Amino acid sequence: MAGPLNLVVLGKQGAGKGTQSLRLAERFHLAHISTGDILRGAVKDGTALGLEVKAVMEAGELVSDELVIKLVQERFQAPDAARGGLLDGFPRTLAQANALETLLGRDGIKLCVNLDVPIELVTQRLSSRRVCQECATNYRDTDESAISGVCAECGGQVIQRSDDRPDAIRRRLEFYERDTAPLLDFYESRGLLVTVNGDQSPDEVTNDIVAAMTARGLA
Ligand code: AMP
Repeated sequence: MAGPLNLVVLGKQGAGKGTQSLRLAERFHLAHISTGDILRGAVKDGTALGLEVKAVMEAGELVSDELVIKLVQERFQAPDAARGGLLDGFPRTLAQANALETLLGRDGIKLCVNLDVPIELVTQRLSSRRVCQECATNYRDTDESAISGVCAECGGQVIQRSDDRPDAIRRRLEFYERDTAPLLDFYESRGLLVTVNGDQSPDEVTNDIVAAMTARGLA
């Protein structure tokens, strides 16, 4: 394979993008590039960026293309992205997909994995999701770490995201259909799209993704 291994992970909110991206990044020694995590970190730290995006994020709306494109450009400069990156939550609009192609070149993305999960299941997953503010590990509301509020991985604080509340969930899923679903055609037309059933255990989903990568000489 020529060049870095850059993979895009697409799917509705709650489809398992974060979980699978973390696993694949670790397995293939790639950078985990999550625009949501970068933005949440900025909000938590109270930086100028954080103050700018806080209200938009809490409402479940999208941050401007210009802003997130700049964040991704910067993130690709970090040393851990030299071997490639797992793009999680970016691109989310056609403008972002085009900007990514300009940034990495036409052959820069090696595969786009679409995690396919029915809407009823993602709604249920999002409402019961809890997340560590430090390391972004996900939990269910019934997990010990969610109940105690202390992350089993790093000791960080486990919280419910403000955009995982019913109104924001509905709005985010509408944005997905309107802005992000068209990216499936974008990557399909480039011969890069593989759809994986996301309604399986995390291990089964990872196995399906790795099988698709192997079939294309990427793993
Ligand atoms: P996520 O963790 O990917 O669900 O992102 C959480 C929130 O961050 C989104 O609801 C948006 O407000 C913002 N965000 C993350 N990634 C993007 C993106 N690529 N474009 C616009 N807004 C984004």
